[in-house]
Amino acid sequence: MTAAYLKKAAPSVNVTLIESANIRTVGVGEATFSTIKLFFDFLGLEEQDWMPSCNATYKLAIKFRNWRPDGAHFYHPFQRYEMVDGYNMGEWWLKLKQHEVPFDQACFSIPAMCENKLSPRFLDGRVFDEKVQDYFAGSRRTKNSFLAEHKVQYPYAYQFDASLLAEYLKGYATRRGVRQIVDEVDEVKLAEDGSIDHLVTHGHGTLRGDLFVDCTGFRGLLINQALNEPFVSFRDSLLCDRAIALQIPKDVETHGIEPYTTATAMSAGWAWNIPLYGRIGTGYVYCSQFLSEEEAEREFRSYLGPDSFGLRANHIKIRTGRCRNSWVKNCVAIGLSSGFVEPLESTGIFFIQHGIEELISHLPGSTIDEEMVRSYNRVVADAIDGVRDFLTVHYYASQRMDTEFWRAVKQVPLSDDLRERLDIWKHRLPNAKNINPNYHGFESYSYSVMLMGLGYLPERSLPALDHMDDTNALLAFRAMREKTDRLMATLPTQYEYLTQVRSEMFVAA
Ligand SMILES: Cc1cc2nc3c(=O)[nH]c(=O)nc-3n(C[C@H](O)[C@H](O)[C@H](O)COP(=O)(O)OP(=O)(O)OC[C@H]3O[C@@H](n4cnc5c(N)ncnc54)[C@H](O)[C@@H]3O)c2cc1C
Repeated sequence: MTAAYLKKAAPSVNVTLIESANIRTVGVGEATFSTIKLFFDFLGLEEQDWMPSCNATYKLAIKFRNWRPDGAHFYHPFQRYEMVDGYNMGEWWLKLKQHEVPFDQACFSIPAMCENKLSPRFLDGRVFDEKVQDYFAGSRRTKNSFLAEHKVQYPYAYQFDASLLAEYLKGYATRRGVRQIVDEVDEVKLAEDGSIDHLVTHGHGTLRGDLFVDCTGFRGLLINQALNEPFVSFRDSLLCDRAIALQIPKDVETHGIEPYTTATAMSAGWAWNIPLYGRIGTGYVYCSQFLSEEEAEREFRSYLGPDSFGLRANHIKIRTGRCRNSWVKNCVAIGLSSGFVEPLESTGIFFIQHGIEELISHLPGSTIDEEMVRSYNRVVADAIDGVRDFLTVHYYASQRMDTEFWRAVKQVPLSDDLRERLDIWKHRLPNAKNINPNYHGFESYSYSVMLMGLGYLPERSLPALDHMDDTNALLAFRAMREKTDRLMATLPTQYEYLTQVRSEMFVAA
């Protein structure tokens, strides 16, 4: 992603991609965040160009299962609330619909689309959400690709085979002049001022550069090992430190394809389920303080049932946290080397996209300006810290207390800011003025949806609404229901739509 984006953004820069044939990638990372569309738009890639090659599917939401003691599920959709008379439909739901219909079904159309495995596109290619249709139409799409300044909520993200996407992007990058070296970096040699002077590789000798981007994963070979930049651990606030990943083949013709990622709460963490075209990526993220590897694998396999028989499980140690500074001297860490929080909201690839975009906007001239480095480090740290806090809220607000893990996550230290916000949210739903103001990808509606879904509700609806006429709000709920019904009657299933796209692609090929 980094090499492809860099070359596209700054074609005159010479980019060399070094990667080892022997050191494997982490091999997971398949669900994304809706801003990923801006990445593909920036590269000029259309869905039909890359999706079939990467077995990609659409993701409209995350379905949270078993996060509530009553076992009820809810969706966190890529869909903002409609506003009615200055207040969002979440606030109105508390007043008018709380005892009638679950908030996600009442306020959004995406949950019903998910339940029916629908595609976000009609068979003629139009996107279901008329508010953003223009952004999906070739030349009319947005010129502003900056994440933090992008005012549009795209209604979906993608789920894909990360290794296939990396191969695809490698082809894209090398065709545009990125030089690829398959070799191992044995040593990182520093100059007198402490910056990186050169890399010593196994088979290609010495490699020099002006700027080194460390994409070596949890190893942090350049940033942590060579430059000794400290890693700020999040272990005290996010307890999960291990994962088990497994890939399950799936016959999409028989089973269809769910247009969402599922996060199912387990005894000491949660399990992901990411449907691709032809297989499911699944895994269990857990806390080793409460489960051994064997216990976790046993619980995970029993949850998966016969689907997992005979399949190999990949055990992964997670490094949760971030580098104190992701840019040090002439080295910028991007990806797992920079920072990582558990993939509960699919933010790993989002951090990469954000890191690259900020790198381009802070790209140095002939010398590296310390103020620009500081500015880069600030925005990157703010984004990662913001997501950490958002994920902490997922655990803190859950009412589950049935295992040691679920009791322990309620005891983690919270910052004063977050504690104050949580107190406010007991009285009113989150809004743009009372969530973390630093850019971290999530808007107030996401906070509101998570809190409502988890059952962390204000004790009563906003008193201001008591003095207002309900007519418009009731009409808005009805309009939402009618719109949802129309979509259900007219959208194809995700399987039908993607199969059509794939057949066109393969015929064209
Ligand atoms: C359990 C888990 C689940 C995840 N799920 C999601 C998800 O659903 N959504 C999401 O957005 N993100 C997710 N992520 C994050 C996502 O997987 C990563 O952000 C993404 O794969 C990028 O990884 P990376 O390139 O930084 O590191 P890696 O994949 O580890 O790649 C490191 C690269 O560095 C090379 N390398 C290392 N050392 C050397 C050396 N000495 N010489 C030469 N080359 C070297 C390796 O060959 C490899 O190519 C998940 C992560 C984990 C751990």
